[in-house]
Amino acid sequence: MQVPAADLKAQYQSIKPEIDAAIQDVLEHTSFILGRHVTDFESAFALAHGVKHCVALGSGTDALHLALWALEIGRGDEVITVPFTFIATVAAISLSGATPVFVDIDPDTYTMDPAALERAITPATKAILPVHLYGHPAPMESIKSIADTHGIPIIEDAAQSHLATWAGRPVGDFSAISCFSFYPGKNLGAYGEAGASLTNDDGLALRMRQLRDHGQVAKYRHAMVGHNYRMDGIQGAVLGVKLKYLEAWTHRRRAIAKRYDDALSGIAGLKLPVERPEACHVYHLYVVRTDRRDSFQKFLTDAGISAGTHYPIPLHFQDAYAHLGYASGSFPVSEAVAKECLSLPLYAEMSDEQTAYVIDKVREFFQP
Ligand SMILES: *Cc1c(COP(=O)(O)O)cnc(C)c1O
Repeated sequence: MQVPAADLKAQYQSIKPEIDAAIQDVLEHTSFILGRHVTDFESAFALAHGVKHCVALGSGTDALHLALWALEIGRGDEVITVPFTFIATVAAISLSGATPVFVDIDPDTYTMDPAALERAITPATKAILPVHLYGHPAPMESIKSIADTHGIPIIEDAAQSHLATWAGRPVGDFSAISCFSFYPGKNLGAYGEAGASLTNDDGLALRMRQLRDHGQVAKYRHAMVGHNYRMDGIQGAVLGVKLKYLEAWTHRRRAIAKRYDDALSGIAGLKLPVERPEACHVYHLYVVRTDRRDSFQKFLTDAGISAGTHYPIPLHFQDAYAHLGYASGSFPVSEAVAKECLSLPLYAEMSDEQTAYVIDKVREFFQP
């Protein structure tokens, strides 16, 4: 049996007539950039997260960069984030001109450690950028109370956590601006590059709309220097169709995660994901830990099971961030998790047979 990390073809087959019709409609109306399909998606996506405004963009990286830009963060400023994330989180900070400041993560949920955050705040801190990694929200009330005490805005990296909730509130609703990715493999994926920002602030929403379109305030009138961060019409149409299924797909992801939890708990040497009582985890990834990671990964690969490492190198060890000067041992939890993490296959179209097969193989490795 083969178990891939995701099956975008199976997902397309399951909604093909609707997707094909939506794309056809974009072609008929030649609404290739922004336009009605994108505007409709913006309204629906904002509503799904209980947030007032959604600004549709070209990628999740665009969303992060635009959030920092709209908050006027740049040279001389510090932005606190985690070294255990996808590089885009930190690259956006660098592109803004600000300096990324890393703090370590919680050893159970792999999200920002609020105590470490508090210690890292300086007068130069201009934003706090937690990541809802793998679909598990960061502890937002602790982070928000620290941020509010110091009067520092939060930007959420929600690229992996569409529809996740913390204390009953959807992610995206805890911050000045939250940033989502619709990279094809994300829980809500486009058929190309796409992303979006959410905000409850009318002024920030307007500013982001202008900046994504060259600072244009009326046809050929540019109030400021901006960039081209607009979403394609085809992506808006595809996302509009797929958003209707996202809740059902998320339930399916959670059901598969529950099956893994039930079948794999108690295996010595294997740490399963933790879901905090306040959290509704959306399992973008189901990440386990073991100090035998590399041999475990090879065993699964040989059995036809695709299991990835997210992420094998913490960002302070990347050549791109050598200039920040963090020594080995600076972030012990991030460094340990990077060596031990392995993502088991989990996607909504995964069959019960495939799930059972992965469970059998995991058991076989640890309890031969
Ligand atoms: C995917 C991702 C991004 C970047 O999104 P793109 O759409 O690929 O630009 C940013 N942060 C995290 C945590 C991600 O997983």
